[in-house]
Amino acid sequence: HNHLIKELRDATDGRADEIFAYLPDGATVRFGDLFEGAGRMAAALIACGSKPGDRVAVQVAKTIEAIQLYLGTVMAGGVFLPLNTAYTGPEVAYFLKDATPRVVVCDPGRLDEVRGIAGSAEVLTLDSSGHGTLRDLADAQEPANPLPRAADDLAAILYTSGTTGRSKGAMLSHANLASNSATLRDYWRFTADDVLIHALPIFHTHGLFVATNVALLAGAQVVFLPGFDSDAILEAMPRATALMGVPTFYTRLLADPRLTRERAANMRLFISGSAPLLVDTHEQWEARTGHRILERYGMTETNMSTSNPYEGERRAGTVGFPLPGVEARVMLDGAEVPTGEIGVLEVRGPNVFKGYWQMPEKTAEELRPDGWFITGDLAKVDADGYVTIVGREKDLIITGGFNVYPKEIEGLIDDLPGVSESAVIGVPHPDFGEGVVAVVVPADDSITPEAITGALEGQLAKFKQPKRIIMLDALPRNTMGKVQKKALREDYAGLFA
Ligand code: ATP
Ligand code: MG
Repeated sequence: HNHLIKELRDATDGRADEIFAYLPDGATVRFGDLFEGAGRMAAALIACGSKPGDRVAVQVAKTIEAIQLYLGTVMAGGVFLPLNTAYTGPEVAYFLKDATPRVVVCDPGRLDEVRGIAGSAEVLTLDSSGHGTLRDLADAQEPANPLPRAADDLAAILYTSGTTGRSKGAMLSHANLASNSATLRDYWRFTADDVLIHALPIFHTHGLFVATNVALLAGAQVVFLPGFDSDAILEAMPRATALMGVPTFYTRLLADPRLTRERAANMRLFISGSAPLLVDTHEQWEARTGHRILERYGMTETNMSTSNPYEGERRAGTVGFPLPGVEARVMLDGAEVPTGEIGVLEVRGPNVFKGYWQMPEKTAEELRPDGWFITGDLAKVDADGYVTIVGREKDLIITGGFNVYPKEIEGLIDDLPGVSESAVIGVPHPDFGEGVVAVVVPADDSITPEAITGALEGQLAKFKQPKRIIMLDALPRNTMGKVQKKALREDYAGLFA
C-alpha cells in the first residue's frame, strides 16, 4: 500500500458523501470528490511519464485542485515539491535546477517563463480557479490506484524559508508526515466534529502538513480560504471550531473591532506558530476572546516538535513541551546545559527529516548519526519542562566576548510606548568584535532614539545596550513574513568601520 495515502484515506473510510471543504464561492467538496480528483491528478502525472521517486514541482495558487495535486503526487509515488507563489523567475530557476523535477505545474500567466527554465520537465498549468492544462488532462483520466510506497520513501521535498541563507530542500518521508499529523491530531484533540479555518498558504509545512493533514486525519471539515482575509475569517468564526495561524494573523484580527468574545464563542482552539508570538498579543487575545492561544514550534526539517498543552497551562512566550514521541535537549559545547540555561536545541523522533536534498555535507553538519537534529535555534527549558525559543544561533551577538541575546533587548524596546517593533543585530566593530545595533519601527512620532537609549540604560548591562539606534519604517521580511536579520546585518555592516 501507499503509507501516507492509506493513513489519510482510512480516516474518512465510509464517509465519501460527507463534506470536507467549504469554498469561498459557497461550493463544497466531499471527501469522496477530494480523493477521486486526487486519483485523476495521479493518473495525469503518470501519463506525463512521472515515475515513483520523481519530483513534481508546483508553484500555483491555493485551490482544492492544488491540494488534489499534492495528494495525487503522493498517490503516483512522486515527491511533492511546492514553491512559494511569491518566488520570482530566477528564484524558481534555482529550485528547478536543484530538484530536477519530472513535471512542473505553474500558473498559466507564467507558462512562457517557466518553460524557459524547466529543462526537460513537462510543464502544465493550474490557475487560481483550479483550471488549466493539468486539470484538463486529469479530467480525461480514470482515477489511478495509489502506487505502493513504504514508510521511509520520500513524499515531499520542502525548501526552508531562506531566513538565514539559501533555502535548503528538506527530504520528508511518508512516515515523517503521517506520524507527526497523527500526533498533532491527538495532542490538539481534532475530531470529525471540528471545522478548521484554513487560511495559511499550502507551499509551507504549516498550511500543507499541519493544517491539511491534521484535518484529513481527523476527518474534520475545513473552511478553505485562498489566503488571509479578516472579513472571511471573522465571517466563518461563528460556525468554526479552530484556527491555525502565524502571529500576524492574530495581530491583524485584533486590529478589527468585529473580533469579540461572542464571535469566538463556538471556537475551541486558536493555534499559532512559524514565528514567535509576542506575550502582548497572547494577553490581548485572551482579554478580547476569552481564549488562550496555543503556541507550538516546528520547522521545515522536523514538522512540529513542541507544543503547549491542550489541557493545562498554555504559557505565553513559551512553545510548550516536546510532543509525544519527540525528544528534545539543549546543548552547549557538547554537553546538555543545566535547567534554565541557554544552548542550541536538538530534537529527535519520527518527525525528523531524511536530510537535505543533494547536500550531504550540510546534512552531516546538522543531522547527527544517532538521529539528533541540530535545529540552529537557541532555547532554554524551565523547571516545569516548558521550552522557550530565545532566537537563532546565527543571530546571537558576541560583543567584547559577552553573549547578547537579541530577544531580551527587543522585548524591552517593544514594550516602550510609541514603538511598533524592533530587531536587534550585531555588526562588525573594531574594538568589540560585534557592536549591538537596534533597528526600531516607530508606531508614531512620539519616540526618539535618545528616549530609547535613556529607557534601556537603567535596565540593561552596559555591554547589552545598543551602541546605535536606527529608525526604519518597516523591517525587511521574507515571503514567509519572517524578519530578515541577515539583510539588516548586510545593510549596516559598515556602521562602525
Ligand atoms: P532557513 O532555514 O532557510 O534559514 P527558516 O528557518 O525560517 O529558513 P522554516 O523552516 O520555515 O525556515 O522556519 C523554521 C524556524 O521558524 C525555526 O527554526 C524557528 O527559528 C522559527 N519558529 C517556528 N515556530 C516558532 C515559534 N513558535 N517561536 C519562535 N520561532 C519559531
Ligand atoms: Mg531553518
